[in-house]
Amino acid sequence: MSAKLLIANRGEIAVRIIRAAKELGLETVQVYSKADADMLAVQLADEAVEIGPAQATKSYLKVGTILEAAKSTGATAVHPGYGFLAENAGFADAVEAAGLIWIGPSGNAIRLMGDKVAARSAAHAVGVPTVPGSEGHVKTLAEARPVVEQTGYPVMIKAAAGGGGRGIRIARDEAELERLVPQASQEAAAAFGDGGLYLEKLIEKARHVEVQILGDGEHVIHLFERECSLQRRRQKVWEEAPSIALRQETREALCRSAVALAKAVNYKGAGTLEYLYDDITHDFYFIEMNTRIQVEHPITEMVTGIDLVREQIRVCLGEKLRFSQDDIRLRGHSIEVRLNAEDPAKGFMPQPGTIGRLRVPGGPGVRFDSMLYSGYTVPPFYDSLLGKLIVWDEDRPSAINRLARALGELVIEGLPTTRELHLALAADPDVRAGRFDTTWLERWLEHNADELGGQVGH
Ligand code: ADP
Ligand code: ADP
Ligand code: MG
Repeated sequence: MSAKLLIANRGEIAVRIIRAAKELGLETVQVYSKADADMLAVQLADEAVEIGPAQATKSYLKVGTILEAAKSTGATAVHPGYGFLAENAGFADAVEAAGLIWIGPSGNAIRLMGDKVAARSAAHAVGVPTVPGSEGHVKTLAEARPVVEQTGYPVMIKAAAGGGGRGIRIARDEAELERLVPQASQEAAAAFGDGGLYLEKLIEKARHVEVQILGDGEHVIHLFERECSLQRRRQKVWEEAPSIALRQETREALCRSAVALAKAVNYKGAGTLEYLYDDITHDFYFIEMNTRIQVEHPITEMVTGIDLVREQIRVCLGEKLRFSQDDIRLRGHSIEVRLNAEDPAKGFMPQPGTIGRLRVPGGPGVRFDSMLYSGYTVPPFYDSLLGKLIVWDEDRPSAINRLARALGELVIEGLPTTRELHLALAADPDVRAGRFDTTWLERWLEHNADELGGQVGH
């Protein structure tokens, strides 16, 4: 296989992609903003090209500049990572129109599944259950009212183009609906360039489960599920594979539904179908598809032994899937915790700074995917994710013990991180028992956040 891969992203995911590309024998080109000249991915790539100032809108989101960088370096393929342009159908089209290979599903598949309203319709068409809510876009109060007559309150107002936990509001009564619909529409237009909204019934005490799939444009396989119920502001904080909440028959039905939905759009590449799961009724409801590699993909790699980024690149370069469904086996339990440059004791305020001493955990079943090195200055312009600590062990209790052990070894001096939060979670009886839903962590933080003093050092 030969290709020269341009990585249109930054941070830990750029490092992850370069590692996969090198193992495949591909050449790599890293683009970077002026603020990112020192980042690890620039050091690891074969070539690097500056694409503009720190602001993402003037660098990582500039389609024309990124395509020019591909042209000037002779790159033949583009990997978008997650965030930035990863779910931008227009970028996918532009990459292909420039004669380059897009490491992801086609622009059309992104339009069908990346837009949350379109994805709900696609789910209905193949009989995959969704959360009760609006059929299409809801723009006005007059359109919202009849939907709520069906679903009842509380109802969620969601931006069709939203992501990363943003663009979601809850209305508990008619007065809140009247106030929030116009406000949400304006904000979605400003934040996502698309004011489209839709409504969903609020599913109380839900767990977040999601199915990893891989497709080659013809065949689709699943790699089982992850559970990401521990969330803050609807963003994942701690993820696990498999979910301990699922019964085997529910797991099979869930994974089957994800494959059916991905097949319906001839999906190519790696993708994730997200669901809410009610562990009392055993019902699951499709909520959205992420048409890209996800932050938490490593835990699936740990329990299946398959390198998802490598397979994603292979199928997008034109190879057929090298696995059939029967080849995919689950083994053991894996947990990922996100390490952000945020201070949990100060409302998770992002705190950039320069990394002093860095001690990376190791030993059996421990993996550290990060952008960090000692002396690196974390710039203030981007997402605060520094990296992820991932562990694997034979079963969940052992994996939690291993996580606590590895967090104990981890030292990141120079800025506060979410390490202390994860240490406290690993010791918590509810977490250890798996007794949580998507609202558990917010409630826990109300009582415990003050005690999570950070490891800052000098
Ligand atoms: P995952 O499901 O992989 O955890 P998230 O939804 O948390 O994905 O998003 C991954 C990254 O991409 C985060 O850094 C998030 O801020 C960013 N992101 C996701 N969707 C969008 C969007 N629509 N616009 C901008 N950034 C986004
Ligand atoms: P994003 O694109 O921001 O990831 P999602 O639709 O995936 O948005 O929702 C993010 C999170 O918000 C979910 O993981 C879940 O915790 C919560 N959520 C979303 N929809 C609902 C719902 N209908 N009822 C209850 N919680 C929900
Ligand atoms: Mg989501």
